[in-house]
Amino acid sequence: MSERHHETVRQQFRDDWPDCWERAAATLDWDREWETVLDESDAPTYHWFEGGRLNACTNCLDRHVAAGEGDSVALEWIGERGETRTLMYTELLAAVESVAAALRDRGVEEDDVVTAYTPNHPALVTTMLACARLGALHSVVPVEFDGEKLATRLQRADSTVLLTCDGFYSGGETVSTTQPVATALDEVDQAVDVIVVNRLDEGGAALAAFEHDNGGVYDYQTLRERFADATVDPVSRAGDDPLLLLFTSGTTGRPKGIVHRTGGYLAYVDWTSREVFDLDRTDTVWTAASVAWIVAYTVYGPLSVGATTVLYEGALDTPEPDRPWEIVDDHEVTVFYTATERVESFRDHGERYPARHDLSTLDVAGMVGEPVDPATWRWYDEHVGDDDCHVLDTWWQSETGGVMISIRPGVEPPKPGRAGPPLPGIEAVAVDDDGTTVNTDEIGSLLLQRPWPGMLLTLLDGSERYEREYWASYSEPEADEWVYAPEDAVRIDGDDYVEILGRADDVIELGERQLVATRVESAVTALDGVEAAAVVERRSTAKNCLVVFVVPTADGVTAKQRTETDRELHARVADRVAETAGTAARPGHVHSLSSLPETASGKLERHVLSEAANTDELDDWSGIDGSIRHLGFN
Ligand code: AMP
Repeated sequence: MSERHHETVRQQFRDDWPDCWERAAATLDWDREWETVLDESDAPTYHWFEGGRLNACTNCLDRHVAAGEGDSVALEWIGERGETRTLMYTELLAAVESVAAALRDRGVEEDDVVTAYTPNHPALVTTMLACARLGALHSVVPVEFDGEKLATRLQRADSTVLLTCDGFYSGGETVSTTQPVATALDEVDQAVDVIVVNRLDEGGAALAAFEHDNGGVYDYQTLRERFADATVDPVSRAGDDPLLLLFTSGTTGRPKGIVHRTGGYLAYVDWTSREVFDLDRTDTVWTAASVAWIVAYTVYGPLSVGATTVLYEGALDTPEPDRPWEIVDDHEVTVFYTATERVESFRDHGERYPARHDLSTLDVAGMVGEPVDPATWRWYDEHVGDDDCHVLDTWWQSETGGVMISIRPGVEPPKPGRAGPPLPGIEAVAVDDDGTTVNTDEIGSLLLQRPWPGMLLTLLDGSERYEREYWASYSEPEADEWVYAPEDAVRIDGDDYVEILGRADDVIELGERQLVATRVESAVTALDGVEAAAVVERRSTAKNCLVVFVVPTADGVTAKQRTETDRELHARVADRVAETAGTAARPGHVHSLSSLPETASGKLERHVLSEAANTDELDDWSGIDGSIRHLGFN
């Protein structure tokens, strides 16, 4: 039985904090060992593994090749149209060295930022690791983003190299990236060299489409061949030197450029891969999500551990909703991880799809991103996990680097609807608005009371914004002790299991009562004729009330019939809310929308709806659609 199964691990972490984190760093190869595990003198900027030096790419590739594992599969890529490409550790290392040499040739040096705007593709992973080898940072921008968003991210990172694909396949469609890239290149001030992966097979035409006035255009494959024999020595980085840059979706104002450090981040991601996902090098991990969102468990975690990572390009229901299960079956996936909203859509499609395939290789099936209702958890457990696989509801944020709250397979039992206890070394409490710890089972805001190695190093905007965004100093538990405030609403039970209710603004104070918006929304969405729903509060001097936005199921009725149907639907919605949350919560208004504003990773942008519903001049609800569109596309 491995060490993780000892019940004393949690206690050891408490007794031996912060030195307990040495066990995370110890699984990595360091060029020079650290002298201090944690330096808190600069709090809330924390320095981890000070004095240590390492290279993240070496840890993901060279060390496995040196250990005789070069012939193990590092990366299995699957395109939406069924194409596959398998790269062994030796092959991925060779590809990384050639791309590193090409980037160096383009002038990329330590601490520069290379921006990538591609779907999940081997060239993306190769380029990320090539950056890590050179000590440069990568910034992966979701390929669904438009040219404006790409421009902002290129500009703010001052990137002079952009990796892109001429296009990609998603949901059976061919999507070209030419236009957004042209818009972005037109807008940024700096010269940008563009490296283009020829994904759509359009030969030279693809390349020509990326010609621009301020920088060169290079074909990815040609560069790979030109530098095929290059060797590039990994650059030794200090533990706190930045590894990567990640812009959050920017739902609330200016996107945050999160900077993760090399040593602490990699140690934490490696450690959580083992501890939470039970990974070792015999595993095949498929994190069915965009690399731009889940970097830790698509790239760094699986490769640092020496496992095989599966990367899938396209939509999970194309050509049919059994696509994920076909991939699990064909590639003998042992660890499957995806967004909670994806699991909800698997459930909507029905169990006949997973039932078509042999999923017995799965040991772990995880999810992240949204509150998980117990029925969805049970469906996942029964129909994907087949009752003998560990189902994990993991809580973390881009800022935390890796999972913070989850049960550990075989260590803590699951409680559907609750993520689990904080991991060893992580201390979490729920507090009220004054920072006072609330009672067991009461709703409060989550606070993390201690720093951890995977925490962000800083924000691109500098330490002032970093401090303002994330850190609070309350009189409890001790004066001038910094605590990290993720701004999520939670309820913690007597066993320390954390139920995540949503973002702090998902909790609505209606008179004396606290309502959890996501709960009301699930009840409304369960009604016939409702595709999606969102609940916000409209504040007024007279009396606050709920406003419910619904997306009616498309049913082909005419506009006139639609109005009448809507009226009936709205009455049913109001009744359902009153039944679920009490008559005092009966909505003041129900409004139909054709879709809800969402982030690139599919999360509801509640603040957009809330802002629209609280506009002063809102006396005619018909104007709200335009106002939501305006706010949503800021
Ligand atoms: P992101 O940084 O985009 O990954 O979003 C992080 C946010 O997603 C968290 O602050 C939570 O609001 C939400 N989230 C992540 N994991 C969970 C979970 N297991 N249950 C509920 N919400 C989650």
